[in-house]
Amino acid sequence: MVVVMAPDATDADVAAVVARVEAAGGEAFVSRGVSRTIVGLVGDVEGFGSLNLRGMPGVSEVVRISAPYKLVSRQHHREMSTVWVGPAGHRVPIGPDTFTLIAGPCAVETAEQTLDAARMAQAAGATLLRGGAFKPRTSPYAFQGLGEAGLRILADVRAETGLPVVTEVVDASDVDLVASYADMLQVGTRNMANFALLQAVGSVGRPVMLKRGMNATIEEWLMAAEYVAQRGNLDIVLCERGIRTFERSTRNTLDISAVPVAHSLSHLPVVVDPSHSGGRRDLVVPLSRAAIAVGADGIIVDVHPDPDTALVDGPQALVDADLRALAAAVRQLPPLLGRRPAADAVTD
Ligand code: PEP
Ligand code: MN
Repeated sequence: MVVVMAPDATDADVAAVVARVEAAGGEAFVSRGVSRTIVGLVGDVEGFGSLNLRGMPGVSEVVRISAPYKLVSRQHHREMSTVWVGPAGHRVPIGPDTFTLIAGPCAVETAEQTLDAARMAQAAGATLLRGGAFKPRTSPYAFQGLGEAGLRILADVRAETGLPVVTEVVDASDVDLVASYADMLQVGTRNMANFALLQAVGSVGRPVMLKRGMNATIEEWLMAAEYVAQRGNLDIVLCERGIRTFERSTRNTLDISAVPVAHSLSHLPVVVDPSHSGGRRDLVVPLSRAAIAVGADGIIVDVHPDPDTALVDGPQALVDADLRALAAAVRQLPPLLGRRPAADAVTD
C-alpha cells in the first residue's frame, strides 16, 4: 500500500501519517520525489484500511499496489517522472518530454583525455558527462580506475565544461566519497543486486542511474530500484544495458523491449546504453536510433579521443564520423517523437 501525499503536504502531515501507521504496528518508508512525497506501507495491509489515512491532512490518495515493487510502480503514479541532475542553476532533465545524451569516456584515464572526451561529448549534444573513476572489472588484473584522483579530474572537467557528472560507485563504503564529487551515482550491471550498495545510494541524496543486471529480469531490476526508493530517494533513472543470451556476435543483447515494458510498469525514466550492450562501435549508432524510436528518455554512450589507446572498452568508443552520426541522430530523431533536446530544457 502506498500513501501519496498532496504537493502542498507539510513535513508534519507526513510525520502524522508515519506515526499513525507505526502506532498500528506497521512500517512506513518515506520517499521524496521532485513533485511529491509518497509513503510506502509494510505490514498488515488489511488493518491499514481502518486507519482512515485517506482522511488525514495532506493525503492525496491511498493506493493498493499489487506489484512486488511499490514506490517505483506506475500503479499509484500514472504520469512519468522526470529526474533532474546537476546543481541548482544548471539542472538537466531526464524524463518524458526530453531526450538526454549522456556521453564521455568509459574510464577516466588522465585529465587531458577526460577533458577531450567531454568536449567531444558536448559538441555532439551531450548535457551530462559520464566517466568511471571506480571501475568494476571482470578481471582483477585489469585497470580498476583512478579512484578519488579520477573523481577530482571529473570535478575539474565539470568546472571547465559545465557538464554535470555521472559516475559509478562500486562499494557501499565509497558512496559518500563519490557523492561528494558526482551529480549522479551510477550502479553498474554487476552490482544491480548488491542490496547494501542500493540502500547506501538511496540514502545519500543524489540521483541514481541503475543499470539492469545482465542476468536480471525486468521485475528484479524494478525490485532493485525499490531498494533505492525505500531509503527515501525516488530520483532514479533505469538503464537498459543488454542482457546475457546465447548470442555471441555482441557482448550482450540489447533488450530493446525492456524500454516500453519498464515504462509500462514504472514511472521512472529509462535510458539505454548502446555502448556496453553491443560492445561494438559500429552498432552504437543503429542501437541509439532504435533506443530513440522505442521511447527511451536518453542514451549513455562511450566516447574517447583516441580509442586505440583506451585503457577500457576502446572498441566501443565513438570518435570522428561515428560520433557525428550519433549527434545527427540525437538532434533529428527525438523531435519526430515529440521530445526536445535536454539542452533546451536545462533549468534553475
Ligand atoms: C560502465 O558504464 O562503465 C559500465 C561498466 O557499464 P555496465 O555496468 O553496464 O557494464
Ligand atoms: Mn565500459
